[in-house]
Amino acid sequence: MALEHIEKIKCKDCSCEFDVTVYESVNGAFDDEAQKKLLSGELFTHTCPECGCVVALSYPMLYHDMDKKFMIHLCPDGENVDECIKNIKDAQKKIDKQFPEKRMEKPYKMRIVSNENSMREKITIFENGLDDRIIELLKLFFASRLQATNKDAAISDILFFVGHRGEYAFQIMLANGENLVSEVPKHFYTLFTEQYMAKCELASRDNFIIDADFAILVLNGK
Ligand SMILES: [Zn+2]
Repeated sequence: MALEHIEKIKCKDCSCEFDVTVYESVNGAFDDEAQKKLLSGELFTHTCPECGCVVALSYPMLYHDMDKKFMIHLCPDGENVDECIKNIKDAQKKIDKQFPEKRMEKPYKMRIVSNENSMREKITIFENGLDDRIIELLKLFFASRLQATNKDAAISDILFFVGHRGEYAFQIMLANGENLVSEVPKHFYTLFTEQYMAKCELASRDNFIIDADFAILVLNGK
């Protein structure tokens, strides 16, 4: 079940105070409502009942999917990472205790992300049975390919998504506000998996943060 509590926040426009639900943890297998809100972005945005102004509130939250076996901890702006790691490990211990028969099954994927977009992205990746380490490598490859053809392209972020036809794609956000979409051929994913999986396994041992820096580490052959 979702662990939640009510907090008061202040509207930045009219200064009225109102109650919002803050989720400490969301279980993807049971909390349909909270999961939907998370994926649509509603979980961290709140509408002032007085003036209709939308207030964003980001907070640490643990997302847990028992079916697909992953946990993602949102750790806003990368603060208190150690505390988030402890939370994740504690949650894992609790599950091991609760379901000892599942302990021998495939290990959990445990991740820490610094913003909501990354959280949604990781959920999409894992829900689709994909590996986020390979996706980060592909991002790096697509980014360098884009920069090779367009030297002025300053990339501010790249997010993976699965399109309506089930195709893999990157949404590439440029610093000038432009948005590009680039489809990722599925055989690229297969190729990268074949070529880099062993290196990924090595580099991701005890590593909860799988991002661009991780991809650079893998490609540098460490
Ligand atoms: Zn207001």
